[in-house]
Amino acid sequence: MTKGNVTDTRMLIGGTRPPVDDAASIMVSSPIDGTELGRIADATDEQVADAVTAAADAFAGWRRTSGAERARLMHTLADLIDRDAEDIARLETSDNGKLLRETRTQARFAARNYRFFAGLPDKISGRTIPLDAWDSFDYTTREPVGVAALITAWNSPMQLLANKLAPALAAGCTVVIKPSELAPLTTLRLAELVAEAGFPDGVINIITGGAETGMALTTDARLGRISFTGSVRTGQAIQHAATAALVPVTLELGGKSANIIFDDADVERAVPGAVAGIFAAGGQTCIAGSRLLVHERIHDQLVERVAEAARRIVLGDPTDDATQLGPVASASQRERILDHVGRARAAGARLLAGGGVPDDPALAAGCFVQPTVFGDVDPHAELAQQEVFGPVLASHRFADEDEAVAIANATEFGLASGIWTTSLSRAHRVARELAAGTVWVNTYRYSAAQAPFGGVKKSGYGRERGVEAIEEYLQTKNVLIDL
Ligand code: NAD
Repeated sequence: MTKGNVTDTRMLIGGTRPPVDDAASIMVSSPIDGTELGRIADATDEQVADAVTAAADAFAGWRRTSGAERARLMHTLADLIDRDAEDIARLETSDNGKLLRETRTQARFAARNYRFFAGLPDKISGRTIPLDAWDSFDYTTREPVGVAALITAWNSPMQLLANKLAPALAAGCTVVIKPSELAPLTTLRLAELVAEAGFPDGVINIITGGAETGMALTTDARLGRISFTGSVRTGQAIQHAATAALVPVTLELGGKSANIIFDDADVERAVPGAVAGIFAAGGQTCIAGSRLLVHERIHDQLVERVAEAARRIVLGDPTDDATQLGPVASASQRERILDHVGRARAAGARLLAGGGVPDDPALAAGCFVQPTVFGDVDPHAELAQQEVFGPVLASHRFADEDEAVAIANATEFGLASGIWTTSLSRAHRVARELAAGTVWVNTYRYSAAQAPFGGVKKSGYGRERGVEAIEEYLQTKNVLIDL
C-alpha cells in the first residue's frame, strides 16, 4: 500500500493492473505548485472494451452473491477508507487543490455513503400482484441492470464516485469507472482498497483517460446504465451516445444556484452561510450558491458584509490549517474563471471584492483566484446565467417573495437553492416554488447520505444518495404464472 502523495496509477481491469505505457499516457500535476504527481494510462479502445467484458463476465456471479455478502464487502471497503482517510484526503488535495480539511470530510463522507448503501442489498424486494383471474399468480422482482459505467468530474472525485459506486454495488451491478483525467488519483487508490476488501475480480474496474476514453465507454452497447457527473456539454454528448444503444443515463450536471436571504433572516447565520455557499471548495462545486438574492431592504448592508468576508479570506497552501481558500484545480480553470470576471466587468457589473489573482509572490506558482463578489448584477447577464465554477459571486436585489422566486428560477439550471428566513410559512411556501432538486433552509451545502440529491432542468436527472439512488441501478421483472 502506498502512503503519501503518490499512488499506483495503473488501471484495474478484471483484477489485473496493466502497466502504464509512457507513450500513451497523461501527466497528472498538482494545481498547488505544478509538480508532476504521476502518469496515468490513456486507455485504448481495446482496454475500454476489455474492462466492460470483465464487468459483464463478473456480473453473473455478483448478482447471485447474497445481499448480506455484498453488504459485508461494502462495510469492509468503508472500514478501509476510514482507516486510510488521512492519506486519501492528502492525495486528493494534491490532485485537485481542495483544502485538506474539505477532503478529510469528503473521505469520511464517502465511507459513510458505502455504509448507508451497505444497509440496502438484503432489503431489495418485489411485490405480489393480485390479478383478475383466481388461478393466476403474479409477482415482481427487482434486478440489477447489469454493467454500469460511472464517469466522474475532477472537483470531488472520491465523493462523486461513492455517490454512484455504493448504490450500484448494493443493487448487484458490476461497474466500469472512469475518473476525470485531471484528478484520478483517489479513484486509482480505491483499486488497492477493493482488492484488499476482497471484492471478486471484475466487479469493480477502473479505466483512465480523457474524453476519447469516455466516448469509447459510453458507446458500448453492453452497458445497463451510464451514470455521469460533469458538465452540461459532456452530459449532452453522453446522452446522445447512449441513445443509439438505448442505454439509460443518470446525469448530474452543473448549477447556478440561488441563495435567497429575506429581510426576516437571522443575518448572523445567513452571512457565513452565503460566504461558505460560494467560497467553500473555491466555488468549484456544482451546488455553489453563486447567485445571492437579497431583499432590497437589507441588500447593500448584507452584500457589503459578504464582500468584506471575501476580502478577509486567507489564500494559501490547502494543506495548511490556516488556509481558507486553496488554488483552483488547474491553470486552464483559472483562465476560464478570470475570463468570466473580465467579461462581467466589461459588461458593467459592480466589483465589490477580488476580481483577479492574489499579488502574494508565495502564491505565484499555484492556480489561485481571489474570492470575488459582484453587486447588483442584472439577472439576465452572462454572470448570472452561466456556471463559472470558481469563487465568483453575483448579487441581486428583490422586492418580495414572488420576485425572489422569479429571479431564482430564471436560469436553465435547477440543482440547489438556499432560503434564509425565520418565517416557517415562508420557508415552505418558497421551497415549494423553487425549481431545484435540493432546497436548504437556514443552511447551505449540507449533504447527507440519506438525503436524495440531483437536479431538474439542465442540472440533470436521476437521483444519487438516499434510498432513491439504488433505483437507478435496478429494473423490474414481472413473473406471471398460470396456476
Ligand atoms: P467534464 O464534463 O469536462 O468531464 C467530466 C468527465 O467526463 C471526465 O471524466 C471527462 O474525462 C469525461 N468526458 C469528457 N468528455 C466526454 C465524452 N464526450 N464522453 C464521455 N466522457 C467524457 O466536467 P468537469 O470539468 O470534470 O467537471 C465540472 C462540471 O461538473 C461542472 O459543470 C459541475 O457543475 C459538474 N458537477 C456536477 C455535480 C453534480 O452532482 N451535479 C457534481 C460535481 C461537478
